[in-house]
Amino acid sequence: MDIKSFVAKRKAELSAMAKSLPVVPTLMIIQANDDPASNSYVRGKIKDGEEIGFKVLLNKLPTTVTQAELLKEVEKANEDPNIHGLIVQLPLPKQIDEKAVKLAVNPSKDVDGFHPLSSFIPCTPKGIVAYLKAEGFDFKGKNAVVLGRSEIVGKPMAKFLLSLDCNVTVLHSKTSMEDKKAYIKMTDLIVVAIGRLGYLDNSFEYKSSAVIVDVGINRGEDGKLHGDAVPNLPVAIQTPVPGGVGLLTRLALMDNLMEAVNHELRD
Ligand code: NAD
Repeated sequence: MDIKSFVAKRKAELSAMAKSLPVVPTLMIIQANDDPASNSYVRGKIKDGEEIGFKVLLNKLPTTVTQAELLKEVEKANEDPNIHGLIVQLPLPKQIDEKAVKLAVNPSKDVDGFHPLSSFIPCTPKGIVAYLKAEGFDFKGKNAVVLGRSEIVGKPMAKFLLSLDCNVTVLHSKTSMEDKKAYIKMTDLIVVAIGRLGYLDNSFEYKSSAVIVDVGINRGEDGKLHGDAVPNLPVAIQTPVPGGVGLLTRLALMDNLMEAVNHELRD
């Protein structure tokens, strides 16, 4: 199934589930930037929520906000029983300690999965795995390479794949090209999240049965969005950019919000 159909199907399921709940699942987004990309991500989250029947509230703070003021807003949302999920949109202004803010979010509302004690799997790895499972990908004993070791994608992706019994190798900016080529050649699943337009190309060898999951979002000289892999590599499945992992990440946020409500109703 293509990613758009997969996302539409799951959204319809979430919508049906939302109708049977005694509460309206509510997400609070705290945003303290005026970044165009962030504004567009926030608009996407609001649109997804509304389509499903969730409530998405935006608390937009000035970029001059102080650490204490921002933490106070986080605390208010933590304590509000009508808010089930809370995310702080990145990037944060220079004067803010990002780590302290991530740690201030109540782990049981941390639907981004950024807190070390969060009840939730970070959205990009979660969305990718949900899609691959729907595609029938059998993770057990498969060789997986994760390119990139960021806190929000590379590391949680590697951890999640390990929990699914993959043999996981993380490659990064200090890995030699020779080693990258050797690992990629024998890999069943490649997740690339490095932020380099078209980095994976035909100069690498791939297994014809391999799956490439392209997380990269890069603005090309043509003004359009491109992935970290060139299109149409000789593999079994390659996710497109745009219209790929970005949609799965957005969907996973909505799935995490539903999970947050279900936890709360159970407790
Ligand atoms: P980042 O930008 O914080 O870090 C890049 C990582 O790539 C580092 O760990 C670095 O070691 C590694 N790296 C850099 N050059 C490399 C090379 N030549 N070979 C191997 N590794 C290399 O990472 P990020 O925040 O995970 O973002 C990566 C990309 O994914 C960006 O394009 C970003 O926009 C995109 N992204 C997309 C989504 C989505 O929902 N689709 C979500 C998050 C990030």
